[in-house]
This record gives sequence, structure tokens and C-alpha cells, in this order.
Amino acid sequence: MSVRLLITGGAGFIGANLARSALSAPGIAHVRVLDDLSTGTREALRGVDVEFVLGSLLDDTALRRAVRDRDAVIHLGALPSVPRSVRDPVASHHANATGTLLLLQAARRADVGHVVVASSSSVYGANPALPKDELDWTRPLSPYAVSKLATEAYALAFASTYQLATLAFRFFNVYGPGQRHDHAYAAVIPRFVYAALRGEPVVYQGDGRQSRDFTYVDTVCSVLLDAVRRRVTHAHPVNLALGSRVDLVTVVGELERILDRPITVRHETPRPGDVRHSEASGVLLRQLFPEVRAVPIADGLVATVDWFQTFVTGPAGSAVAVDRVPAAPVEVVDQVGTVRRTVARTRSC
Ligand code: NAD
Repeated sequence: MSVRLLITGGAGFIGANLARSALSAPGIAHVRVLDDLSTGTREALRGVDVEFVLGSLLDDTALRRAVRDRDAVIHLGALPSVPRSVRDPVASHHANATGTLLLLQAARRADVGHVVVASSSSVYGANPALPKDELDWTRPLSPYAVSKLATEAYALAFASTYQLATLAFRFFNVYGPGQRHDHAYAAVIPRFVYAALRGEPVVYQGDGRQSRDFTYVDTVCSVLLDAVRRRVTHAHPVNLALGSRVDLVTVVGELERILDRPITVRHETPRPGDVRHSEASGVLLRQLFPEVRAVPIADGLVATVDWFQTFVTGPAGSAVAVDRVPAAPVEVVDQVGTVRRTVARTRSC
């Protein structure tokens, strides 16, 4: 079967990588993106020939337009980041929890066959177990984590209540090309790569020994596409990480090796709501997706550094002056249904 796919949050980091992969993936017939560009950018989809619905998950008209004639949805649209949610818990709740509920309702009404949602390792929160098994108890430590627990719980409840085929993944720390370094809530790897390339200090919030199960974005995209192609469902959430935990000191060491120069480090106080260590049990993921392969952090960082040097900083850390991405149109359908063509102007992932 060929899948007509909707990606919510498709102008974001993971979504844009996914859209690009989906276009060349076997078994995917058509890709539509729904995004309100609150954290994503149109530039992220530059050169990616998808149908773009500009609108919010919270807007009924945009949502109905987005789910129409879809076989599957990969729901990535959300306001990510723990600190963002600490600052504005209500906004995170609306986008992540209410947004998921409305998406599931719309999908059900439109007879969408399969919905895959993105939850987060942050739901384990205060549970110190390592590695994290999906059946371990959850205790969110931040409003963001609560909203992600709601995301996965709604998806699984729609399966049991309405027989909507769903799959809830818990992403761990996803990184790779296209991830933004340039906003207050940027993730650690793009911040470190950018600072290192510019010769600026990297900042540890704490002692740098906090560790994460870093997952390369291509691994996430290939599992998501395999899930919709084979219409994989599961009664419990599934960790989307493979148990390859490293600490921040190790990440900086790898970057020093790749760049062949020392990196200066500065220490700040730990952030509220952050967990110290995070590592997935990848057992269930490997059972459901036997072909999944982990990308070693060293290889993922090489590709990430390469992307930053090509599209963000230039090889010597200076800003990239020339637009090096080939232009291609992206179809934009705005909320009132006007179709127009646009060509994004700056860098892309
Ligand atoms: P991102 O911020 O780059 O992408 C999220 C996208 O959702 C953005 O394009 C944003 O504009 C869009 N969006 C936000 N609110 C919306 C709304 N109301 N309506 C429509 N679109 C909306 O983040 P990402 O890193 O690509 O994360 C994608 C998903 O994965 C999110 O659900 C996030 O919670 C989850 N996740 C990511 C990680 C990670 O390490 N990146 C870890 C755990 C979970």
C-alpha cells in the first residue's frame, strides 16, 4: 500500500528531516505538512516538495484540511523544551496536550488509518531507573513532560476507545543536521556545535556529567517511516532510542576530536526540571523494528558539524554568506484556503 502522509510539525527539526526522507522513501505516495511556524521555519522545508498547510493544530479549519484524504499521520507538532514549559506551562499544554487531542479527533472523523505520535523520555522524570523500560513508572518533573504524557496517553486511549490504530514513541535526545541553535530553548548539541565552530565556550548547566541517550535524526526518521508503511501499533508507548547514553563531557571530547582543537567550557547552575541521566531500553524498539541500527555519536556529530559548516557558520566559524541550497518551490495553502507558491530564501536542512 502507498501511504498518503500528514506530518504535523513538519517545518521543525525532526519534521523537515522526515519530510525529506519520506519523499524518497518507498511506499510513501504523498506528503503534506501542517505547521504554524511557531518554532519551525519555512526555510527548513526549502527544496522539499511537500504540500504545506500553514495553520495550528488548535485551528479546526486548518486541521480538517490537513487530515483530509490521509492514510497516516506522524504527529510531531508541539512546543518542545522543558525550560519553555517552565516559563509558559499553559502554552505548552495547549499546543502539546490539547493539540494532540484535537488532532486525534480530526483523524478519527476523517477516517485516517494510523496515527503515530511523538512523546518524550521526559515522562520518566523522577524515576531513576536506568535504562528506562517502557513499563517503568512515570513521574514528570516539568509541564512539558506532563504535556507529553498526555500526548501518548490520548493516543493510546483513542486506540482502546475508538479503535484508531495508534503508536506512541518516546523520543530521547534527537540531534542532527537542521537542528536550530539560535533560540533560547535550543538543544544542547546544536548549541555546542555552533559555539565550538565559532571558537566560543560551550556551557554546561551543571558539571557536564549529566548524560543523555542521543539519537541521530536519520534513525528516528527511518523508524517513523517504517512504522507508517507497516502500520505498526502497540498497546504501550515505545522508546525510540537504542541505549547509547553519553555525557556532555564526552560530546565535547568528540567535537574536539572532529575539529582537532580544544574547546573552552563554562559552567552554569543546573536548570529546574532537568533530569540528570537518561537512557532507553531499546529492547521493545528492536522487537518491533528489527532493522533499526544505531548511528554512533561520533558519526552523527561529524554529519552535524558538516551541516553547520555548510549552512550556518562556514568552515572557519564565520557566517555563511552565500545561499548554497538549490531553490525549489514549496506549495503553501494558508488557513483560508488560498494556494500560492513560495520559494524560501535562506538556509535549509
Ligand atoms: P521543533 O520545535 O523543531 O518542531 C516542532 C514543530 O511543531 C515546529 O515546526 C513548530 O512550528 C510546530 N508547532 C508547534 N506548535 C504547533 C501548533 N499548535 N500547530 C502546528 N504546528 C505547531 O521540535 P523537534 O525537535 O522537531 O520535535 C518534534 C517532536 O518531537 C515534538 O513533538 C517534540 O516534543 C518531540 N520530541 C523531540 C525531542 C528532540 O530531542 N528533538 C525529544 C523528545 C520529544
